[in-house]
Amino acid sequence: MNTAAAAHPPRARAEIDLAALRGNVRALRERAVGGAGLMAVVKADAYGHGLLPCARAARQAGADWLGTATPEEALALRANGDTGPVLAWLWTPGGPWERAIDADIDVSASGLWALAEITAAARTLGRTARVHLKADTGLGRNGCQPADWAELVAAARAAEAEGTLRVTGLWSHFACADEPGHPSIVRQLDAFREALGAAERAGLRPEVRHLANSPATLTLPEAHFDLVRPGVSCYGLSPAPELGAPQDFGLRPAMTLSAALANVKRVPGGHGVSYGHTYTTPGATTLALVPVGYADGVPRHGSGTGPVLVAGKWRTVAGRVAMDQFVVDLGGDTAEPGDEAVLFGPGERGEPTAEDWARAVGTIGYEIITRVGARVPRVYINREP
Ligand SMILES: *Cc1c(COP(=O)(O)O)cnc(C)c1O
Repeated sequence: MNTAAAAHPPRARAEIDLAALRGNVRALRERAVGGAGLMAVVKADAYGHGLLPCARAARQAGADWLGTATPEEALALRANGDTGPVLAWLWTPGGPWERAIDADIDVSASGLWALAEITAAARTLGRTARVHLKADTGLGRNGCQPADWAELVAAARAAEAEGTLRVTGLWSHFACADEPGHPSIVRQLDAFREALGAAERAGLRPEVRHLANSPATLTLPEAHFDLVRPGVSCYGLSPAPELGAPQDFGLRPAMTLSAALANVKRVPGGHGVSYGHTYTTPGATTLALVPVGYADGVPRHGSGTGPVLVAGKWRTVAGRVAMDQFVVDLGGDTAEPGDEAVLFGPGERGEPTAEDWARAVGTIGYEIITRVGARVPRVYINREP
């Protein structure tokens, strides 16, 4: 990832406002009830915003824990000096258990195979691994099924007795928390309490029990337990756009994706535009070339639908999004090469938001921000509180 300051004006940039990120983390932390802490989820390069600067900003704003999917992401945090609690939850057989345990990273187990690899690694190291047991309370993705939970808990308890691990966390994940009132929510809460009860009766005494992703952090206080675990809302997107815009939840999008126009030209009417000529100029007009494409994370499904602010107005992508560029028809307006095109941002300057892009292309805001390509430099503003 190119995070160095460019010596020349960049073709495109993703500006990351770390003050917005810190404000979001603080707002989310204030919503956590009963003294629950906050785990800021920084997986997938902090949802495309850049792992290390975002992790640091989240800690500055009071994130008690950081959460990653892969162990490599957690190890990168340690390699760069983060010493606070970190959980990595997405493991595959043969994963870097020893390195993670040695680096004081809490690891997650959803089944016996993982416990076996954890205890083997802990024995080799002569250390006690810190483990969160994950229950499948209804999501049907990762996690241990209720029918297998007693066996997993018993194996973990036996390993505790042996000193190879300590169960520091019990946790699960929601399927439909972004749809308040969905019947699965109450069922998952009940199943989670049952899993906690069974673990307690077996003698486990976890430090933290956690279940709430962004929508549950914002709308479901009874799911907060000891720790909330928001991701997308830390970056300022609403996790449930039907329920409210970011500002309705006290959030502000942290990323602004923009590009410098690479060309502006007059063309006659009837001119085909971009691959396949799916757009034809309705009359003599001015075309502007925006030098970002699907290699930069601009969805190709945005062909003919994606919004972009150019020369003071919302425009729509004219014709196909190519790998590196797309075109907008300025109609009767003009612009200069080098003028800014804003694909999305907080929306405060009249620019589209990531949510607008998500609606235009039939996806969710999460995917829009996370897929911004590696060749777009991330430029950080408001680094210090
Ligand atoms: C991604 C993820 C989160 C964060 O979800 P958001 O909806 O972005 O808040 C929390 N927990 C787990 C297990 C996840 O995979």
